[in-house]
Amino acid sequence: MLLLTYLHFSMQPVEITRKDNELFIIWDDGFSSSIALEDLRKNCPCALCRGEEIGTKKTKPIKLDVFKPGVFEIDKIEPIGNYAINIIWKDGHDTGIYSFEFLRFLTETFSKTAEI
Ligand SMILES: [Zn+2]
Repeated sequence: MLLLTYLHFSMQPVEITRKDNELFIIWDDGFSSSIALEDLRKNCPCALCRGEEIGTKKTKPIKLDVFKPGVFEIDKIEPIGNYAINIIWKDGHDTGIYSFEFLRFLTETFSKTAEI
């Protein structure tokens, strides 16, 4: 049932561009957003960054080393089906899969004033 709810999220990015230290995303409902790469990385949804619950134990998330080169730089973005993107960072971190729903949430949360 949860999966069905999830699939109801139908908004998709139509254009994703990177400029300087920001990612610009235009959505198919016309919403245009930008998010700093730093905010994007700091909110990486993967188990390594978030910590993972295994049974009753919760593993501690890995502390992000902000001084490591490439931490806030995107190497490439790969689409996953039609529901998510996988962001591969220049420091080699490649397990962050951002669903469109999460991406939209992030960009709405962190977006600076819309630019025209
Ligand atoms: Zn991560």
